[in-house]
Amino acid sequence: MAVSMNKVFANLPVTVFEAMSQLARDNDAINLGQGFPDDPGPEDIRRAAADASINGYNQYPSMMGIPELRTAIATHYKHWHDLDLDPFAEVMVTSGGTEALTSAILAVVEPGDEVIVFQPVYDSYLPIIRQAGGIPRLVRLEPPHWRLTDDALREVFNHKTKAVLFNNPLNPAAVVYPREDLELLATYCQDFDVVAICDEVWEHVTFDGLAHIPLITIPGMRDRTIKIGSAGKIFSLTGWKIGFVCAAPDLLRVVAKVHQFLTFTTAPNLQAAVAYGLGKSDDFFRQMRVDLARSRDHLTKGLEAIGFPVLKSQGTYFLTVDLSPLGLNETDEAFCRRIVTDYKVAAIPVSAFYERDAVTSVVRFCFAKKDATLDAALERLSDAVHRR
Ligand code: PMP
Repeated sequence: MAVSMNKVFANLPVTVFEAMSQLARDNDAINLGQGFPDDPGPEDIRRAAADASINGYNQYPSMMGIPELRTAIATHYKHWHDLDLDPFAEVMVTSGGTEALTSAILAVVEPGDEVIVFQPVYDSYLPIIRQAGGIPRLVRLEPPHWRLTDDALREVFNHKTKAVLFNNPLNPAAVVYPREDLELLATYCQDFDVVAICDEVWEHVTFDGLAHIPLITIPGMRDRTIKIGSAGKIFSLTGWKIGFVCAAPDLLRVVAKVHQFLTFTTAPNLQAAVAYGLGKSDDFFRQMRVDLARSRDHLTKGLEAIGFPVLKSQGTYFLTVDLSPLGLNETDEAFCRRIVTDYKVAAIPVSAFYERDAVTSVVRFCFAKKDATLDAALERLSDAVHRR
C-alpha cells in the first residue's frame, strides 16, 4: 500500500523551470532561462564573507539575524527610502527571500482566508498559501504593461480577504510599479483591512532612472505591510540566500515564530558580508543598474534586429518578448521547447507563471550575462523567428 503524502506538495507538477533547465543541459544550450548572473559578484563583499569565516564567529547567531546586519538593513532603507525602522523590533534576517515569503504567509494566513495573488505569479506563493489553508484569488495581469486596475481589484477584494501578495519589481514581466498603482492597492488594503506581503527582492534592480517605491512607504501601509528583500539580488550573489523581513513589531513577532522553526538562523559569515555590502556608496548601486541596463539594451537590440518584438524591461534581470505579432502559431512553451532543441538557447515561457488563464505568447530571457554569452545566443537565434 502506497503511503499517503501531503497533497499540496505531492500533486505539484515538475515546474517548467526544471524541465527547461534539464532540456538546456541535454541540448548543451546557452541558458538564458534561469535568473542568475554570469558575473561572480563584488569581490570585496565575497572577501568580507571569507574574512568573517576565518576570523569571525561561526556558531548559531541570533535567530533574528546578527545585530550588524539588522542595523545595516534599517540604515539602508532610511537612506534609500526615508523609511524609519527599529532594527531590533522591525527587522529580521532569513535564509533568502523564499524563506521570508514562507514565514510571512504562514504567519498571516489561516484556513479559509482568501489571499490575493497576481498572475504572472512567482512559483513559491501558491503552494505555501494552500499549505496554510488559504484560498488564492488570482488576478490576471495583462501584457504589455501588466498594470493594476481598479476593476481587477474590485472584483477580488472582499470581507474574506486576509492578505495580498505583491511582487514589485515584477518577475517575469520586468515592471517597476508606479506610485499610482501602489496607491490604488493601498486603498483596497485599508478598506478591507488586509495585510500586504510585498516581495521586493528586485528593489535595487531598476533601470532608466525609475525608482522602486516600497508599498510600506505609502500612507496607511506602514503597519499592515510585510516587506521582503534579498541580498542575492541586490549584490548578484543569488546562491547566498540572505533575505530580510521588515514589518511593524506586532507583525514581525509572529513572522519570527515561523522562521524559528523553518531555519531558525542563517550563516553568520554571509550575514556579516551583506552588512558590509549594504553600506556601500550609492555609486555602487547606480553602477550595478547601469551595467545591467547596458546588458538589457544589448540583448534588446540583438533580439529586435532578428525580428523579435521586445517588451521594454524596467527592472529585474529579465526582458520579455511577445510572440503574438510573429504569427508563429505556437505557444510560448512550444516556442521555448523548439528553440532549446533546434537553436540551443534556453528561455522561459511566461505561461509557467500562471495557474490558469495563462498568457501564452510571452517568453522571458535573462540578460544578466556577459556580452559574449548574449552574442552567442543571438547568433544561434538569428533565424528563430521563422519556423523550421
Ligand atoms: N521572489 C522573486 C520574485 C524572485 O524572483 C526570487 C528569486 N528568483 C525570490 C523571491 C527568491 O529569492 P531568494 O533567492 O533570496 O530566496
